[in-house]
Amino acid sequence: MNSKVAILTSGGDAPGMNACIRAIVLVCERAGHDIVGYLHGYNGLLSQEYMTLDSRQVHNLAQRGGTILHSARCKPFKTDESGKLAAANLTALGIDTLFVIGGDGSFRGAAHLGKFWQGQIIGLPGTIDNDINGTDATIGYFTAIETAVQSVDKVRDTADAFERVFLVEVMGRHAGFLGLNGAIASASDYVILPELFESEEKTLKDILTQLNERREQRGNVSYIIVLAENLWPGGIADLASRLESLTETEVRPVILGHVQRGGSPVSQDRLLALKLGAYAATLTGSAVTGVMIGEQHGKPVQVPLEDTWKQRKPLDDLSVDTMTLLMNNRYA
Ligand code: ADP
Repeated sequence: MNSKVAILTSGGDAPGMNACIRAIVLVCERAGHDIVGYLHGYNGLLSQEYMTLDSRQVHNLAQRGGTILHSARCKPFKTDESGKLAAANLTALGIDTLFVIGGDGSFRGAAHLGKFWQGQIIGLPGTIDNDINGTDATIGYFTAIETAVQSVDKVRDTADAFERVFLVEVMGRHAGFLGLNGAIASASDYVILPELFESEEKTLKDILTQLNERREQRGNVSYIIVLAENLWPGGIADLASRLESLTETEVRPVILGHVQRGGSPVSQDRLLALKLGAYAATLTGSAVTGVMIGEQHGKPVQVPLEDTWKQRKPLDDLSVDTMTLLMNNRYA
């Protein structure tokens, strides 16, 4: 049956969102559905701002970072009035199915909309944080790791030259996936993560002990610490100055910030986006609704939207063990 389908991207943008849009559009177009893209996340849904989408718009899109639909936060969307307005707009446009590509906040928004709109709602996990329960990985996560790793590699060159301590702040204020795997892959020396942080004192003591061990083994060495954003109570500058006085070494803070959201998606993110998007599109017109499409052990899964945020996704044991073994972090 011919349906009318809408897509929006919401919340923090992530590399691979475009590839996901492309997959949904191509599969839906082939099935004979009409497609629109709402602009600026839920804002477009409230202001009825949209563009029609077909295969021409998604040509050459898989490799492009960002999102052609633009993403945004939309505070008013939490109200019942907004839910009703969005529902009325979707009905006015004759939309049968809405695909929401975003993070857990966007899925809360999708569930909120579901209270007022009877159409089909399907979420797709797009966030660099990988903090969505029910899927092994999220679209954008692998590219963000790659960006963090490349940045740490560059920092290491200058750190080695001057035998300095560097602090590299990565995104992920609530979840340490990016920090953990970025630190392992870049062979950093220490990592400070929300899931494992105990206290300032313990962290400083651990770093100092470890740094002194390294210096005894290898002489005056460079030392790189990866820090998850918004975690250290006084901020990265405070940690840097405290470490500077404790170690009597120059400590340089580097905040990676929004570069981690940008760039062309790496192939893992493109593949995840294309696979999840294509699979999700095949569900158009079915009874499946109120779910996120994720991937677990190489298979697509349908996860009720509520389950994506109700349970905190734990760091995987193998990565934590690897960090402890290779980096000698003292969390174990
Ligand atoms: P992300 O999707 O990346 O987690 P946010 O947490 O900023 O990003 O959420 C994106 C948007 O989702 C918000 O700006 C808001 O429009 C919507 N949203 C988030 N939480 C809710 C909620 N509880 N009810 C309705 N809408 C919500």
